[in-house]
Amino acid sequence: MASASQLSHLPHQAFIGIGSNLIAEGFDNLHLSLSAAVQQIGCADVAVAGQSSWYVTSAVPVSDQPDYLNAVLDIRTAFEAEQLLDHLQQIELQFGRIRTVRNAARTLDLDIISFDDEVIATDRLDVPHLRMHERKFVLYPLAELAANWRDPRSGKLADALKAECDAVDDGSQKCRLFAR
Ligand code: ATP
Ligand code: MG
Ligand code: MG
Repeated sequence: MASASQLSHLPHQAFIGIGSNLIAEGFDNLHLSLSAAVQQIGCADVAVAGQSSWYVTSAVPVSDQPDYLNAVLDIRTAFEAEQLLDHLQQIELQFGRIRTVRNAARTLDLDIISFDDEVIATDRLDVPHLRMHERKFVLYPLAELAANWRDPRSGKLADALKAECDAVDDGSQKCRLFAR
């Protein structure tokens, strides 16, 4: 984890959703491949300042895919949002991400959940992530890390979004703490 002095030249704060349900080549399990991916995110322009616990989650929407391991990272960065997306997509490729159909099983997914308190809508980016509100695998780790994070669109806190998601869940979204 980065120290305070390492973070001072990195003006932007972002939360990154990280997840996978296919072990990347060269690793023995999901936890090891995802931990290696977290290491790769750190570079001269990105510091990982915090990380939630890992959560074992079922695929959303429900499917017969294997379970996912998910977490949320608190990062500081000198990149603007689209540069950060470039950086994350390069790492996805490094970990063997192949895009086939929507919501397919994957070796690594790195999504920008939020970027400062900006609302971004471009061809490549919607921030905050448009589907975060309906996903326990985002809201549980986000609320653990930053219960008081406020969604710039709705003005709601992470904790409130999590409670709302719980209230509408029909029980199909598994999301439990990962025990190593
Ligand atoms: P979902 O977006 O529903 O979580 P996904 O993560 O599987 O689906 P990807 O295949 O990883 O989708 O990304 C598809 C495209 O989504 C990317 O090429 C990127 O341009 C776009 N995108 C839009 N907003 C974001 C965001 N906040 N974070 C990451 N990618 C985004
Ligand atoms: Mg995603
Ligand atoms: Mg993605």
